Amino acid sequence: MASAIYLHIPFCEQICYYCDFNKFFLKNQPVDEYIAALRQEIQMYAAQHHPEEPITSIYIGGGTPTSISTDQLAQVIEGLSGAFPLSPDAEITVEVNPGSCSDEKMAMLKKTGVNRLSIGVQTFDPELLKAINRDHHPIDAKKTVELARSHGINDLSVDLMFGLPNQTMEQWNDTLKQAFELPVTHISAYSLKVEPKTVFYQWERQGRLDRPTEDLEADMYNQLVSGAVNAGFQQYEISNFARGQYQSRHNLVYWNNQEYYGFGAGAHGYLNGERYANHGPLPKYLKAMESRERPTLHEHPVPLHEQKEEFMFMGLRKISGISLEEYQSRYGEQVAETFPGVMDELVKEGLLVMDEDSVRLSSEGKLLGNQVFEKFLLGN
Ligand code: SF4
Repeated sequence: MASAIYLHIPFCEQICYYCDFNKFFLKNQPVDEYIAALRQEIQMYAAQHHPEEPITSIYIGGGTPTSISTDQLAQVIEGLSGAFPLSPDAEITVEVNPGSCSDEKMAMLKKTGVNRLSIGVQTFDPELLKAINRDHHPIDAKKTVELARSHGINDLSVDLMFGLPNQTMEQWNDTLKQAFELPVTHISAYSLKVEPKTVFYQWERQGRLDRPTEDLEADMYNQLVSGAVNAGFQQYEISNFARGQYQSRHNLVYWNNQEYYGFGAGAHGYLNGERYANHGPLPKYLKAMESRERPTLHEHPVPLHEQKEEFMFMGLRKISGISLEEYQSRYGEQVAETFPGVMDELVKEGLLVMDEDSVRLSSEGKLLGNQVFEKFLLGN
């Protein structure tokens, strides 16, 4: 059974050029109906949840959860906390866009038990913010951090992006400097991926997207890693850094290949050995809930060989890597038996480091993660 919940609020006030998440322009959307359906979905799953297994993490993402009204968002959070047993120290995160959270909304978040925010800063460069169609100004990020802290929400994560169109090393260094100076506990930083069905995808096809070279992007990543460590963060995953004990408990559920509920349009979940994805389009999601059916588009019972693959490539994202003993106790055989020769080959190529207890990515391997992960596909 799962002890983590992901919940999706698919509304945004502006659509970013790189975004391929399941999201809809907020204006004229049936938000109240969506919230009623969400609460119904929550109840449907909660009725089957084992009452003695407390939920240890909730992550409300989007979309922009703070784009809906204070009352609507409160209904969602209270719907969850009223339906599931929560661990007293549960991590409850809400994604917030800089400037999208009023004083009143922040007070409600604190009151309903939210204790962590993930703030979509992306860059502190005003021109780059415009170039990716974010609707905030750099100063909004700092104001949101201050506002959260003034309400006693101190576990704050900042999301950054690099490899943006025309982004220079100087701009990236400036963003890093400003991010490191903030009183935040966590940083996530990802390079731009150009995904189908995005504005950037169209531009790339038309030859209008000027992206940094792979070498520059690698330098940006190295700058991130060394700068974060100098600023008192510990890298615990390829793209994630925490001060003190503030690692994202929720994301560790994914990297440890554990199960979780997924609620809302387009949400993914992993329950009882089955991965599932909900309908993305609102009418389909709402219709399924109206008929009191699970709103799933597809369900996929994960066969054993896939569980082993996922354990490897999710776990190798962590800096501590995977525990050889844990693999053996989960699957009754050693990693080297499932993937003969693979680890030795990757160690020889300098992409993996192995000792008696664990195997993990080398510095080079962190840059070439996908090259490593594909070696752990069993293909059967
Ligand atoms: S705010 Fe987030 S979810 Fe909305 S369009 Fe931008 S990146 Fe996508």
